[in-house]
Amino acid sequence: PTMAHSKALLVLENFIGGKFVPCSSYIDSYNPSTGDVYCRVPDSGKEEVEAAVKAAKDAFPIWSSKSPLERSQILNKLADLIEHDLEEFAQAESKDQGKTITFARTVDIPRAVHNFRFFASSILHHVTECSEMPAMGCVHYTSRAPVGVAGLISPWNLPLYLLTWKIAPAIACGNTVVAKPSEMTSVTAWMMCKLLEKAGVPPGVVNVVFGTGARAGEALVCHPDVPLISFTGSTRTAQRITERSAPHCKRLSLELGGKNPAIIFDDADLSQCIPTTVRSSFANQGEICLCTSRIFVQRGIYSEFLKKFVAEAKKWKTGNPSDPTIDVGALISKEHLEKVRTYVKKAQAEGARVLCGEGVDPLAVPPGNQKGYFMLPTVIVEVKDESCCMQEEIFGPVTCVVAFDTEEEVIRRANGVKYGLAATVWSGNVGRVHRVAHRLQSGLVWTNCWLVRDLNLPFGGMKASGIGREGAKDSYEFFTEVKTITIKH
Ligand code: NAD
Repeated sequence: PTMAHSKALLVLENFIGGKFVPCSSYIDSYNPSTGDVYCRVPDSGKEEVEAAVKAAKDAFPIWSSKSPLERSQILNKLADLIEHDLEEFAQAESKDQGKTITFARTVDIPRAVHNFRFFASSILHHVTECSEMPAMGCVHYTSRAPVGVAGLISPWNLPLYLLTWKIAPAIACGNTVVAKPSEMTSVTAWMMCKLLEKAGVPPGVVNVVFGTGARAGEALVCHPDVPLISFTGSTRTAQRITERSAPHCKRLSLELGGKNPAIIFDDADLSQCIPTTVRSSFANQGEICLCTSRIFVQRGIYSEFLKKFVAEAKKWKTGNPSDPTIDVGALISKEHLEKVRTYVKKAQAEGARVLCGEGVDPLAVPPGNQKGYFMLPTVIVEVKDESCCMQEEIFGPVTCVVAFDTEEEVIRRANGVKYGLAATVWSGNVGRVHRVAHRLQSGLVWTNCWLVRDLNLPFGGMKASGIGREGAKDSYEFFTEVKTITIKH
């Protein structure tokens, strides 16, 4: 690894076959809270991907023949090493992504550590099936084996968190991997590579190629020796990946976007619901696939809800992400900030009203952050269900609040988008929450809470929000190939 001190730029290198290797060309990576270029990321293409796949293929026979216990011990060691450097990782993630240091310290990096520990443990507990046919004198059983080289492609919003959510199960199952993090947030993946050798991960088991989706990502998706691709990102990219991988009939896991509703019935406990819904709307600048962006409030409590919700949203402080008292950091890029702002303008042009945030309240950031990509938590009302703000994923600190009357109506409206990732339901009526949860087209439904996860259980979306699920059993099934064996005695 090199630091080009002359320009004070951080220069990343690919990690292939256990070694850091420079690349012939680089792309700039920005610090979203200042607008400055501070890092150079390899612009890898076919050649680099080819070398990484070869290293992963070469490492597969040895890694796949290790016992789950041996692999588990290595994953635990890696978790310990990341945890030891937690503060350094958190600082890097905050600087690279724009998220607050508090979020990186309490969510991103602890979860990356936990991902390795979780799969280090879960890999020890799987059993396969067996069925007997005494009349035929036969016994059948299943056996599971790692598939080979897994291609892992991850987005910029939760960089190390989501990358390790793929690397951990893939290598725990005995696969080797070639990972391609987002070109906008590559630093923590590179830092993790520096710890692999010390953790005991053999060379070639984890390879990381940095670069854009169009070059490095596609080269991985199209590589004939990569039989499975685990992708988290936008629905549009997933369509492209599906097309490009189709000639090879690759196994795909696709975790995509959302347009997540919160449904708030008139018997909801607002003292819990309001702070949680502000959090579910604006956490990580609204840049979480699970963030709430459509809030349906039953008419009887609509005005009260709105007043309290806006008051709570205004308490969220936007500013320098490295300040631990800040709640909202910078958005990922200038282009993304423009895109999010455009949604607010479109809503206003359609007659919607902005109650707080963008264009309504003054945005004050410290002098050093004037060129950063900041936006205040923004609440929009009087917006039609057909509006692009109610249909498309905005992926920023913007949420729409609308009123509804009946349970039947709100289920229909909540389901009336192309996505189906996560929903929240707020009510004290146990019968109602079960009924509504069953009828929502959503891979996850949280009742009277948000973002409470048990990694054992399936995670993933319906409709345009994805294909496949991740979790203890689900990731194990995705990252292994099953065989049914019949023995006649
Ligand atoms: P994106 O689709 O633009 O990029 C994701 C990754 O794919 C990046 O690494 C990118 O370089 C790569 N990529 C782009 N084009 C590619 C191509 N043609 N071939 C191969 N790889 C390619 O998404 P993003 O903007 O980085 O992330 C935001 C999106 O991710 C949002 O839609 C969000 O909802 C979604 N997301 C989903 C989940 C989930 O678990 N469901 C989690 C986080 C984010």
